[in-house]
Amino acid sequence: MADAEGAAERCQVDGCSNPVERSVAGKLAGRAGLAVDDSQKRVHLCREHYRQLKKATRKERELESLGR
Ligand SMILES: [Zn+2]
Repeated sequence: MADAEGAAERCQVDGCSNPVERSVAGKLAGRAGLAVDDSQKRVHLCREHYRQLKKATRKERELESLGR
């Protein structure tokens, strides 16, 4: 059976192999606490990790606006 791996993109979070749903800036993913290589320009995330990132960055944004 031919393997399609390599063609299908995988989530780049360490230990995760779900299919990719979104790509985000590496820096953003690093700041959200995801286990990715945040020196990369873009990282690909599965739906679950993208949700995690959104949650984390939303919190950060709230804190930033509260601090003003
Ligand atoms: Zn993932």
